[in-house]
Amino acid sequence: MSNHSIERPDPKTEPEKWQAYWKQQIEEAQTLTKWFIGNKAFDRIRYGDEEGYPSDLGICHDCGIVTGQYHVPSCNVEQCPKCHGQAISCPCRYAEGQEVSEERDIVEKYMLSLTATLQTGG
Ligand SMILES: [Zn+2]
Ligand SMILES: [Zn+2]
Repeated sequence: MSNHSIERPDPKTEPEKWQAYWKQQIEEAQTLTKWFIGNKAFDRIRYGDEEGYPSDLGICHDCGIVTGQYHVPSCNVEQCPKCHGQAISCPCRYAEGQEVSEERDIVEKYMLSLTATLQTGG
């Protein structure tokens, strides 16, 4: 209410503000350690452990985490632990017919809070 004009900071020029902007989502994301794919649990890939990525990228330009943390769900940098594609766009997690309700609930909660944050920013 008081912070009516939160703007999306620039991750390159304002890394600390970028992290602060994502703080709550980052904290919650650390409790989500697995993706459920085809009803099997896969350990999520931590930032810096991705296949084919450099290992020291600095803070994530999309969700503000540092090396060793889990990305915020919906981050476009996260890698799928099954196919090593982009987690938000690969077909694994939301393949037809798989039961992901529990995980999806969590992700939807994030998306809602994210949407709320963005709407606050105007
Ligand atoms: Zn990220
Ligand atoms: Zn995948």
